[in-house]
Amino acid sequence: MRVWIDEGCIGCRLCEEICPEVFQVDETASVIEENIPGNEEAIAEAAGECPVEVIIVSEENFDLIDEDDDVGVIDDEL
Ligand code: SF4
Repeated sequence: MRVWIDEGCIGCRLCEEICPEVFQVDETASVIEENIPGNEEAIAEAAGECPVEVIIVSEENFDLIDEDDDVGVIDDEL
C-alpha cells in the first residue's frame, strides 16, 4: 500500500486523530511511511473522512514514483 497527501490539505487534523501512527499534521499532513503496515484500515478510514479528499491510497506497491507520472489516475484500458 502507498499513501500520500495531494495538494490542498487544509490542516484540519482529522487524519491525525483517526490514525496518529501514520498521519502527522503540522500546517499540512504528512505520512509516516514506515508505519503504514498494520494500519491499513485506519488509513482507509482517514482517507474516506478527509474533508478535501487529498489522502491518496493505492493498493499497489510502486518501486519508483515519478511525480510527472499519472500515478493515481485510473485509466480504462481494460
Ligand atoms: S484530514 Fe485531510 S485536510 Fe485534514 S489534515 Fe488530514 S489530509 Fe489534511
